[in-house]
Amino acid sequence: MEFLEEKLKRNGYKITKHRRAILNIFLESEEHLLTAAEIYNRIISEYNNINFSTVYRNLEAMTKANVVKRFNLDNGVNYYELNEGVHHHHLICLECGQTKITNYCPLKEPKFLMIHDDFTPVDHKLEIYGYCKKCNKG
Ligand SMILES: [Zn+2]
Ligand SMILES: [Zn+2]
Ligand SMILES: [Zn+2]
Repeated sequence: MEFLEEKLKRNGYKITKHRRAILNIFLESEEHLLTAAEIYNRIISEYNNINFSTVYRNLEAMTKANVVKRFNLDNGVNYYELNEGVHHHHLICLECGQTKITNYCPLKEPKFLMIHDDFTPVDHKLEIYGYCKKCNKG
């Protein structure tokens, strides 16, 4: 939390009660990826005078400050997650939407580096869709 607040400050963004509340929601959430609507629904129980556009604007500011990352998944919905600086990919259940993270990255494989030794990747996206253990039954 402190490290994330420091990052906000360092990147020129103020720490407001709303931004702190949003950080808390991420930290307390069992899900890894959250939509703006989900964050709004959780924050409203604490700040009943906050509106959706305020939550959205804060999420965008926090994205610019690199504290939060925004993802656009195949379903066209934007998801947000904390940017904790650890490279990972997502395993997303098509049935219940549960997201797990994996530290496996194909770009780190020696084979990849061997095949593409004349290319320097700077960014990549990889989301793996499938069924979680619970939804795979039957
Ligand atoms: Zn993630
Ligand atoms: Zn599932
Ligand atoms: Zn990767």
